[in-house]
Amino acid sequence: MSNIAHLLALGRDVYLPVYRPREVILERGQGARVWDSEGREYIDLSAGIAVCGLGHNDPDLVAALTGQAGKLWHTSNVFYSEPPLRLAEELAAASRFARRVFLCNSGAEANEAAIKLVRKWASAQGRTPDRRVIATFRGSFHGRTLAAVTATAQPKYQEGYEPLPGGFRYVDFNDVTALEIAMAGGDVAAVMLEPVQGEGGVMPAAPGFLRAVRELCDHHGALLVLDEIQSGMGRTGTLFAHWQDDVKPDIVTLAKALGGGFPIGAMLVGDKAAEAMQFGAHGTTFGGNPLAAAVARAALRKLSSPAITHNVARQSAALRAGLDAINAELDLFTQVRGRGLMLGAVLKPAHAGRAGEILDLAAAQGLLLLQAGPDVLRFVPALNITDEELAEGLRRLKLALAGMAT
Ligand SMILES: *Cc1c(COP(=O)(O)O)cnc(C)c1O
Repeated sequence: MSNIAHLLALGRDVYLPVYRPREVILERGQGARVWDSEGREYIDLSAGIAVCGLGHNDPDLVAALTGQAGKLWHTSNVFYSEPPLRLAEELAAASRFARRVFLCNSGAEANEAAIKLVRKWASAQGRTPDRRVIATFRGSFHGRTLAAVTATAQPKYQEGYEPLPGGFRYVDFNDVTALEIAMAGGDVAAVMLEPVQGEGGVMPAAPGFLRAVRELCDHHGALLVLDEIQSGMGRTGTLFAHWQDDVKPDIVTLAKALGGGFPIGAMLVGDKAAEAMQFGAHGTTFGGNPLAAAVARAALRKLSSPAITHNVARQSAALRAGLDAINAELDLFTQVRGRGLMLGAVLKPAHAGRAGEILDLAAAQGLLLLQAGPDVLRFVPALNITDEELAEGLRRLKLALAGMAT
């Protein structure tokens, strides 16, 4: 058996079968290009899952990683080291609202911290457990731990995991009246949402929605928690997506692009709830790892630069124009939605459910693509993608889509 066949068989045999990866073994990457073990080249419009914000093999991230690798890998949180301290300082400053930062290792872990912090804060406010409800939105995705998956208001992620923890209430996204009704009883301690829903189909908050949520939170003494795990770190054209909605959150969670491909998560907390968790209230062994923090500092410096902001606007327009041109010819999408370089092309009802099939066709044309549910193609490329890489990606996409049997 060839090595690749052996590895694919191994994947089917030894992994818990919770994923269904495309049948390629990726080996190395450069910018928005990736090569597999047989030397085939791909244009990467997925960036992991919106993780590699600076593409693959970014020289500054490699230098940050290797520089730290020769110094110190781990201290635990029993001792300080400089990279995570500096990262926390820089994230708080860049966020324009945060007073304190908790570093962890993933998105679900950041949201788990936020959920626990809301409850501690509500408890200190004298709210009884039944008045510590967290309102979340249909179509959301907040991660896979038991609390995060309960915050995730999509049955497909929850089925079979009952009993789920209590204290969550689901509301229709972009429906202010529904949220008013859900909060009317005064038992909601926090509202948690993504400024642009990612896994739920690349669905942006409607203009004014986040402001309305903020006002309702203020009216009812509730915290506003923004899950910017996918939408943050420059992806939507500003360092944080909620800047475009003109709101100030109480908590923001980050992961995905925060480490440019190195695992790290963070919870940023504003003044209102910054003292809610005290010594011993929470923790993690690996959180604030010096290697991850060193890489994340370099990533933050680059992702918050005007060059990236400018490129996201430029390539977003080019990607939209390219998708519109493809659609003018092939008539496949009802709309292209999203912000910046977080875009979704919604398949027409005639092609509903075919996103996975299109991903296979794209891979065969040398294009790495994501879906967001069965009906939406998701485009989340590196934020420093070049004109040439994007044009080549669109060329391959058109070939893949033209190959769809109608
Ligand atoms: C990916 C994602 C998460 C979960 O992050 P993990 O690192 O997979 O735990 C949570 N919220 C949003 C919005 C995400 O996109």
